[in-house]
Order: sequence, then C-alpha cells, then structure tokens
Amino acid sequence: MTAFDAIRTRDDACVMQTYGRAPVAFVRGEGVRLWDSEGREYLDFLAGIAVASTGHAHPAVTAAIREQAGTLVHVSNLFYTEPQGLLAERLHGLLGWGRTFFSNSGAEANECAIKLARRSTGRAGLVTAAGSFHGRTVATLAATGQPAKHVPFAPLPPELMNHVPFNDQDSLDAAIGDDTSAVLLEVVQGEGGVNPATPEYLHAARKLCDERGALLIFDEVQTGLGRTGTWFAFQHAGVEPDIVTLAKALGGGLPIGACIARERVAAAFARGDHATTFGGGPVPCRAALAVLDVIEQEDLVQNAAAMGDRLIRRLGEATAGNDLVAGVRGLGLLVGVQLTADRSAEAVERCLAEGLIVNNVTPSTIRLSPPLLVGAGDVDRAAGILGSVLAQMGRAGE
Ligand SMILES: *Cc1c(COP(=O)(O)O)cnc(C)c1O
Repeated sequence: MTAFDAIRTRDDACVMQTYGRAPVAFVRGEGVRLWDSEGREYLDFLAGIAVASTGHAHPAVTAAIREQAGTLVHVSNLFYTEPQGLLAERLHGLLGWGRTFFSNSGAEANECAIKLARRSTGRAGLVTAAGSFHGRTVATLAATGQPAKHVPFAPLPPELMNHVPFNDQDSLDAAIGDDTSAVLLEVVQGEGGVNPATPEYLHAARKLCDERGALLIFDEVQTGLGRTGTWFAFQHAGVEPDIVTLAKALGGGLPIGACIARERVAAAFARGDHATTFGGGPVPCRAALAVLDVIEQEDLVQNAAAMGDRLIRRLGEATAGNDLVAGVRGLGLLVGVQLTADRSAEAVERCLAEGLIVNNVTPSTIRLSPPLLVGAGDVDRAAGILGSVLAQMGRAGE
C-alpha cells in the first residue's frame, strides 16, 4: 500500500463524499510548486482555486501565522483584538472607503452582503446573473445562477432567485424593480467559466441601481486583491460598488472572508444584527495583513497584469491551429482556455500526469489561476505543457 492509498482509503471510509477528487494527495508546497505523497513535484497553476496568491509557504506569511498562533488564537468577538481593526483599516485604505464585517468564507461574506442590502433598503429582492457563483449556503446557492445546482435542494428562497442573462443591459433594466434590494455581480464570473463582464454592462448596472434605489454589490471573492492585475477587478471598468465581498486570496489559505460596505450602507446594521464566532480572529487577520504586505512589497498586482498578458499570449501561441481550442480569455492571472468539445476533464487529467495543475471549471473550459508571484519561466513552461497536451488530444480526436 502506498502512502497515497492509505490517505485515499481513509477519506473514502469516513469523509462525506461530496468531492470528485483527483487521485493525488499533496503534502508540501513552496512558491508555485507542490509535492505529493509519493515525492512527485508539480507546477501549481490553480493555487487552491485562486487562494494561494503569495504562493505556498511564503516565509513572511508563514512567520506571521506562527507568531500570532504562539501569542493569541481566539477570544471571540465579545472583545477587541488588534489584528481585526488593522486589517479593516488596511482594506479601507485599498478601497478608499468602507467598513468591514469579517466572515470565514466567501459564501458567508455574500450572506452578510445579502442581509445588509435587505436591512439598508428595506427590500427583499436580489438580482443576479445567469452563470454566476456566489456560494453554497442556502441563500447564496439561491443567488447562484446555475439552476442545476438548485435542483437537489429546492425549494430555495424565491426572492433571491432572479437570475438575468449576463452582460445583457436590457434584461437587467427589466429585472430591477421596487423590491430589489441589490444587484449582485461578479466582475469576471469565475466558476461560470472565466467570463468577464463588459465595462458597459457594469456602468449600466451602476446607473440602474442609482436610479431605482438598489445597491450594487460586486462579489470579488475570486477576482479581488490583485488577481486580475488591479487590486479590485472593478477598477478595470472604473465602476464602484456599494458593497464588495472578498475571501479566497485574503488569508493566504487561512479561512477568512470580508464584506466591505460604504459607511452609509454599513450604518444600517445595528449591534446584534449580524455576528460570527470565528470571523475576524487574530490568526487569519494577521495572515491577511502579511499577504497584503507581500502583494505590495513584491509588486504582485503589477506582476499579475504582466504575467497574465504573457500567459494568454503564450497559450494562444501554444494552441494556434488546434481545432480543439476555441480561444483563450481572461483578465490578469484568471485565465480560461475554451475548448470546442466537452473534454476539459480529460485535459486536466493529462496535465496532472505531466506535473501541471489546472482545473476543468466547466466541461469545456480549463481555468488557470496561478500564484500572483509566478515568473515568466513557469508561465512559459505551463503554456508549453498545456499546449502539447491539447495538441495530443486534438490529434487523437481526429
Ligand atoms: C469561491 C467563491 C465563492 C464562495 O466562497 P467559499 O469560500 O467557497 O464559500 C463565492 N463567490 C465567488 C465569486 C467565488 O469564486
């Protein structure tokens, strides 16, 4: 029995089988590289689903976690702790506005946003986009514009299930009514297959919300904190929301989410309206402060923009003339390779066998979201591996 067999056997026996896992167990990481239980090395172009922005085991992030874990781990939100306020102040500095509620995940950050929008407008309805992803709690699942995910859990709250076609201004115009508390959008749909919103659509959403007294919420759980080559993806279009949610990259792998609202919106929450036992604890907040320091000190937002452009260019070159590839799209280091057939799972499996980790985000789309500190050599290496895997598959399919 290999080390991996033992790990898998235990998982099969005792863990709820909700995940379709690849047959690999990782035991160690450093930068853009991971090692599995059998000692094999991989190039990580997924980063734990856009989480490990500063790479694996970044010394500064590791030191911050170690230091805080050896000092104070948890006291609850019945008391003050310094890291939470420091992180909220830091996020305010990045946005130029906002007051933060800290949660433990992206779904919880969106739950907070949905509750706050109701509290601040006195309205119950929510408008979201088809193909969106906002989380797996009951409310955020309802808000998620993927009907297949709703079926096993129906009925879900109907006020949260007004899904309009993405990037379609007329449908948005028709959907926002007197009972709409907010429009909730991803600036680039991540789980939906790396679909960027057009700047015109985001501008129209801002205008319609202002005219009708609804809030505009951007779910930047996947796109926030440098991933797309700007601190926040909405900065590409220059459209500012009333509430923004963050999570994935914030804690460098520790669970933390943030719902950041404009002062006048945040003021709608009275003491006791919303709470969490773990949210905003000292260890994840210290980790997040270290992550933001590293992003700033190592110029990772700029690097994400440059390496994202390079990755899209190299993937274009590596797949030119391949009939299996319809195109490459993305913003910064959130990149999708669109196939002409539902063969992304096969491509991901073959890449893994070649030591490259990517993800089949939809049956026909491969997602790449490497750490923001990835260098040109690894970008070229990854594009080369994926290009040759898709070339082999293209030939085999003829
Ligand atoms: C991942 C994701 C979520 C959910 O975050 P969890 O931490 O898994 O709850 C919500 N919105 C977007 C855009 C995401 O990518």
